[in-house]
Amino acid sequence: VSGLAERLSRVVGRAHVLEDEQLTAAFERDFTGRFAGRASAVVRPGSVAEVREVLRLCAEAGVAVVPQGGHSGLVGGGTPRDGELVLSLRRLDRIEELDEDAAQVTVGAGVILENLQAHVRERGFDFAVDHAGRGSATLGGMAATNAGGPYAVRYGSMRAQVAGVEAVLADGRVVSRLSGLLKDNAGFDLTGLLVGSEGTLAVIARLRLRLVPLLPARVTALAAVPDLERGLELLRRLRAEAPSLQAVDYFHAHGLRRVCERHGLPLPFRADADVYLVVECAARRDPSDELAAVAELATETAVADDERGRAALWAYRELQNETLTALGVPHKLDVSVPVARVPVFERDVEAAVARLTPGAELFLYGHLGDGNVHVNVVGPPLDDQRIDEAVLRLVAGHGGSISAEHGVGLAKTEWLSLSRTPDEIAIMRDLKRALDPQNLLNPRRVLG
Ligand SMILES: Cc1cc2nc3c(=O)[nH]c(=O)nc-3n(C[C@H](O)[C@H](O)[C@H](O)COP(=O)(O)OP(=O)(O)OC[C@H]3O[C@@H](n4cnc5c(N)ncnc54)[C@H](O)[C@@H]3O)c2cc1C
Repeated sequence: VSGLAERLSRVVGRAHVLEDEQLTAAFERDFTGRFAGRASAVVRPGSVAEVREVLRLCAEAGVAVVPQGGHSGLVGGGTPRDGELVLSLRRLDRIEELDEDAAQVTVGAGVILENLQAHVRERGFDFAVDHAGRGSATLGGMAATNAGGPYAVRYGSMRAQVAGVEAVLADGRVVSRLSGLLKDNAGFDLTGLLVGSEGTLAVIARLRLRLVPLLPARVTALAAVPDLERGLELLRRLRAEAPSLQAVDYFHAHGLRRVCERHGLPLPFRADADVYLVVECAARRDPSDELAAVAELATETAVADDERGRAALWAYRELQNETLTALGVPHKLDVSVPVARVPVFERDVEAAVARLTPGAELFLYGHLGDGNVHVNVVGPPLDDQRIDEAVLRLVAGHGGSISAEHGVGLAKTEWLSLSRTPDEIAIMRDLKRALDPQNLLNPRRVLG
């Protein structure tokens, strides 16, 4: 690699080829501590032309490349395995033109979500996908994983927001679809193919993103309900009565207690409930009356319409991930099932955990409006995969998906066939071979 490092330095500058262990360490271990590997080098291009040249040199040398954005992904897709080269896109952090006529903005792949939000909100727009990793997740990584988050129930996931990408293939070919045309049926939708491809087909360098109007009147309610069946009843009412509904997330009493202990937060209500929902509406004018069903169906409710108050209610939900990760490296399964099946799926998961890994700590929470359940099991050693297998088989049995929003990465490759038919997997392999014949971009991710 040292000859290659020299050639890469000539492209991106010596300061942007990192080989020293102390400098590369932050790029080599994921957020959960579950995935880690020693990169041969970390390369940080500063332009699309540099991305292209770096990929060309790596292809020439036959070196595998792992594209990396904010490294907040949760399935090991952006973490190198030993000897792979990390291509960090973080320096592509320019927010370009905001086209008010089209309500679109062009950004570099390394722009961090929080920075985009601040930029467009000042101009009366908003970006529809948001999640708790907003301080580190990049738009390129979010597109590569087709990130979802709580507002998908209203706006859809990243795929619905990406009007086009500029992306570089492993051999240096470029797909450039940044015109922002929403009606463009001239040929195959290459943007749609690359969104959600987890860095296995191309490196996304720039994106054209759709924006939504900034809705100034936001009301968030934290609602305690006795069980998930009541939660679903509330969801049905809200879908019918609240056109401004944008989030219906949930968590359980156990996760709430753990978050409060770790962060010194007060319990939100006097009495315990099994399930807590975070419901949010946003509109131009106060949408509080659309939340009437919450007061009718919840046993206790807290409501906030100011930024600080809303953030305080969201914290109980958003801190679940960080809190359980602090307890130990989790078995982390982000899955979805048909919305109506969430209660029975959760009961099956509880029974499987009690049977296979008694004494383990189970955290269940997620985006109820999308049937998206985050199953986290803390305690069993990571090489004991019995619980992962059992949960993913339950998902398949309930007609769900083994990956709702985090992707397949390295974590779930062996179970892809639970969600995809043999024909579909064969077609995906054909596409991989056509776009990356040397298998240099994120090898082993997604397809194993
Ligand atoms: C606290 C927390 C909360 C989260 N909540 C959510 C949530 O609600 N919903 C959700 O969907 N996700 C969530 N995530 C997961 C994560 O933030 C998303 O997957 C995120 O969008 C990934 O962005 P990133 O820039 O960090 O990508 P990385 O982690 O760097 O990479 C993720 C994958 O994308 C590939 N990749 C990265 N950049 C590019 C690029 N430019 N071109 C091609 N491939 C690329 C990588 O190779 C890897 O396979 C959460 C994470 C954390 C830490």
